[in-house]
Amino acid sequence: MNTFLSAEQEAVRQTYLTFANEQIAPIARDLESHKSCLKEFLQNLGQKGYLGIAVPREYGGQGLSFVFCALFAEAVGMVEPGLGLSLANHYAVIEVLKRYGTETQQSRYLPLLARGEALGTTAFSEEKAGTDFRAVTSTVTKQADGFVLNGKKTWVINGEFAGLALVLAGAGADENNQLSLLLVDCTDKAQKCSGDAGRLGLKSAYLNTVEFKDQKLSQEANISHAKDASDVIAMYSMDVAKVIMASAAVGLNFAAMNEALEHARTREQFGTPIGQFQGIQWKLADMGTEGEAARLHVMRAAWSLENEPESFSKNAAMCKWFAAKVARQHSGEALQVMGAAGLMEDNKVEKLYRDAKAMEICLGTSEAQKMQLVDLLEI
Ligand SMILES: Cc1cc2nc3c(=O)[nH]c(=O)nc-3n(C[C@H](O)[C@H](O)[C@H](O)COP(=O)(O)OP(=O)(O)OC[C@H]3O[C@@H](n4cnc5c(N)ncnc54)[C@H](O)[C@@H]3O)c2cc1C
Repeated sequence: MNTFLSAEQEAVRQTYLTFANEQIAPIARDLESHKSCLKEFLQNLGQKGYLGIAVPREYGGQGLSFVFCALFAEAVGMVEPGLGLSLANHYAVIEVLKRYGTETQQSRYLPLLARGEALGTTAFSEEKAGTDFRAVTSTVTKQADGFVLNGKKTWVINGEFAGLALVLAGAGADENNQLSLLLVDCTDKAQKCSGDAGRLGLKSAYLNTVEFKDQKLSQEANISHAKDASDVIAMYSMDVAKVIMASAAVGLNFAAMNEALEHARTREQFGTPIGQFQGIQWKLADMGTEGEAARLHVMRAAWSLENEPESFSKNAAMCKWFAAKVARQHSGEALQVMGAAGLMEDNKVEKLYRDAKAMEICLGTSEAQKMQLVDLLEI
């Protein structure tokens, strides 16, 4: 029972779980190994409306609240957590456009993003600008009719096929801002993109280095805003992405728990199911309790985006750090419950454990969340 959710939200959540189980779970391994085409899969999600859950109806979306995006990400996280990365970046671009975009930017991009005809991504990191993302050295030069962008971005999710990237670069787009935040069409020929970077976890998303060489951008590309500086908007987009990643982490934790529970009920040692041993029972009790705590935290954060904006950033940092920790710790304990079987490459918990570790690093490390909290809580 979700004490937070209305009957309508709970009913929609059930449809998300059914969709994830029926349409994603059977191809999760193929998405992870790229045997199934992620681009086509995401476009299909767009056609079904899942990429435009919180896009206003007038722009072709479902017009639902951000909480539904979190519920969808949790359902997805139960079967293929790597998709959480693609969703996190995509929803982040949408929320930035909703809050900061001009009418022209919104009407041009939101319908494309809602339908999955363009996938959103964020390109902040550079070789020397990771946690210290404000240290970017990509350059923006102002011209009479727009801007020229140069620079190399690392760890760009789905950089090789995303349609629209939110790019953080050095000063140049706006006199009032120290940094520039730009909406960049990723299909431009002026870009050079590396192949997918192989890694430990969250492998279904593509991870590319994207190089911009004298890329011309129109005036409309500038999303820098008089209200907030570019780095504040960039941080807002990361906060949105973090809540989605944390939702996927909650789903991951419960998926690992379900596997461990099933194993504990059926695996016998010393003449009895191992679930009868207190040492195993307590692991499962911890997974359930901390998983629920993470879920409440994430729901609160998602709700606060629209209902308590002043605490959104704090909630986002807290829930990302906590949910990723819970997912990593308890998927590890779930693997322990499985014994040797859990270490095997075809075992779901082996995959969940790898994915969970990556969640503590991507979209800002756990240390970065605590640094943000030190600021926000004025410690
Ligand atoms: C799967 C994946 C997806 C990603 N997707 C994107 C994306 O879509 N867009 C994008 O722009 N970036 C993306 N990133 C990059 C990600 O945001 C960075 O990896 C992350 O911010 C950390 O930067 P870094 O790897 O350079 O580590 P570093 O910043 O070099 O940090 C190394 C270690 O030092 C710690 N550290 C750094 N500074 C401090 C400090 N002041 N106090 C204490 N500890 C500190 C860090 O927590 C970390 O443990 C992605 C990364 C991964 C792995």
